[in-house]
Formats: sequence, C-alpha cells, structure tokens
Amino acid sequence: MSDRKKIGKQDIGKLLSEWNQQFSVSVPSRDNGQSMWAKWDGSDVSFLDWYRNTVVPAKSNFLPSMEEMFSFEKGNEGYKIEIPAPDDQKQLIFGIRPCDARALTIIDAVFKDGYEDPYYFSKRNNSILVGLGCTNPCDSCFCTSLGINPGESSDVDLMLTDIGDQFLIEGISQAGKELIAATNGLEDAVEADDNKAKETKETSYAKVTKQVNVEDVQQRLLSCFEDEEHWTRVAAKCISCGICTLLCPTCHCFDINDELNKNQGARYRSLDSCSFCVYTKMPMENPREAKWRRVRQKVAHKYEFYPMNFDVIACTGCGRCIRMCPVNWDITQTLEGLPART
Ligand code: SF4
Ligand code: SF4
Repeated sequence: MSDRKKIGKQDIGKLLSEWNQQFSVSVPSRDNGQSMWAKWDGSDVSFLDWYRNTVVPAKSNFLPSMEEMFSFEKGNEGYKIEIPAPDDQKQLIFGIRPCDARALTIIDAVFKDGYEDPYYFSKRNNSILVGLGCTNPCDSCFCTSLGINPGESSDVDLMLTDIGDQFLIEGISQAGKELIAATNGLEDAVEADDNKAKETKETSYAKVTKQVNVEDVQQRLLSCFEDEEHWTRVAAKCISCGICTLLCPTCHCFDINDELNKNQGARYRSLDSCSFCVYTKMPMENPREAKWRRVRQKVAHKYEFYPMNFDVIACTGCGRCIRMCPVNWDITQTLEGLPART
C-alpha cells in the first residue's frame, strides 16, 4: 500500500474526527488573540486559514508551563506520596511546523541525557506528530539558515503539504505509515501531486529571506566570551522579561516548587528562564547577576554549549524570540555582530 495519499481541504474536519476516535487531537487554537495548542473541539478547522505558527510552541504539549509532579501528605508514619497517573490516551498533534518538530528532536536529547525524564517522555512517546508545511513564513523566520526546510520534516510521523485544493499526506515514520494505512477516506497520490508538493516546498523555502551565518559560530562566540564591553552593548535594550526563552521551542529550563497547605501539598515544576535576575536564586545565588552575562548565556547556550554537548545548535530559526520581544532584540543581529574568529 502507498504511503503517499491525499485529501481534499474540505475533508480535514472528517479526517480529524476519525483520528479523534483513537487519539486526543490537539490543533492550533486562539485564546484572547494568542495562538497556542488546544484539544480539538470536534468541529473547528478555521486554523487552516489563519495559522502561520503558534505563539506558544508545540513543546507545551510535552513540557507544559506548569505541571504537578506529585502530591504529598504528612501522616504519623511519615510522608505519603502520590504520583499522578500518566494520561494513557495517545495524543495526536495536528499541524506542527517543521521548525517546532525539529525543536522537539533537539530537546529530546537533554531529557534523556543520563536519566530519562518520565514526565516528558510519558507524553512524548505516546504521541503522533502530524506536520503541516509552511507556505507563509514570517519575516522573522530564519529556519533555512539552520538547515530546516519549512516545507518538509523528518522529525514528524506524517507530513501534509498544500497542493492546491488538497493536501498531500506522506508517511514519514513507521507509525505514520501505519496510521495512513488505517485511515479511511484518503486517495492515492499520483505523480502530478508529488510534483505540486515539490513546487510548494521549493516556494516555501525561497520565501524565508532572513538569513544568518552560523558558520564558525561556536568559535566566534568563544573568542568574544569574556568581552564584557561587547556583551553589555548587545544586552543594552533587553529588559530581562524572559519572553524569548519561555516561548522558545528549544528552551527547557524549569524550576521546582512545593505548594503547602498544613500537612499536605504538591510539588510542581514550571518553566524558568535564564533571562530572569532571580534565576536559580532559590537553591543558590544567580551566578549571572549582571544582565550582559544572562544575555550572553542565552545565546551561548544555544549556539556554543548545546552543540558541545549534543552536537546540534539549539535554535531552529523559528523567529519567535524576535517577533515576541517587547524591545525588538534580535538574535540574528547578535549572531551577525559577533567578532570574526581569532
Ligand atoms: S524577550 Fe527581549 S527584552 Fe525580553 S528577555 Fe528576551 S531579549 Fe530581553
Ligand atoms: S532562539 Fe529564537 S529563533 Fe531560535 S528556536 Fe528559540 S525562539 Fe526560535
């Protein structure tokens, strides 16, 4: 059976309804004007018209901004601890963009480095990613500089590409191919569909005009690492609000706190940001009290330290940190402004 199928755009609701029988389907959704991921309501597919990318990245499906790790109660014989049962229902994330799917592959490495994080992987391993190629990248996107084609992805299970009135559906992983084979209402794709999809992908690629040179970036960062004057200039307008990191699809720092009510309570983990002046203040002091050190950390972690540890740059060029920064701080200007390698 072919793993290349197609479906009319008007039938996406039917497709989601079918998948909604076996999965908990999440789609791009808007709440108070901000786009994020939400459980599909069973009928609305209007996101196909407005969706470019969500403001809140797809990592929120696996690393929520806040989650309960366990609850506890102190009794006469010590503490009784209860860990919430993981949700057994498989998730299907419909419409993830290639940059955000790559971001998940990037952060998988850190959540299984030495110890496999059960909170993250209980959700990640129980999900199907259905990619939707970008046809309208934002001006702030620079994914192609990081080797990502906005129209295709090897980080998803299935990939949908706009071919006019229809979407081409390609099975990427074994799970994706099996899902295609088990899904009703799909037509076999023909050569003309593949050609149209190829054209869409090439056009999308060409639409990403913002570029950044990442060649030698590790060495360039290293050579100016101690240059306080340089980093003070780079950090000047940042107000340490943390938005760029909280919305970054590859940032994964978290804090852990207990909520107590007399003898009982719960432990939560919540996203944290190295941009905050109070970062790591609870276990110790913030080792980066000066703002320039925090801004340097944000850039160097993605472009220098993460590649040292995991052999991949922890940035996908999704552009959120540029779009959402209240003072128009732009990471590409910082990268372009790095002194030449010495
Ligand atoms: S979003 Fe902008 S102002 Fe806020 S921490 Fe990031 S760079 Fe600084
Ligand atoms: S650093 Fe900025 S462009 Fe890179 S992945 Fe994070 S939010 Fe996207």
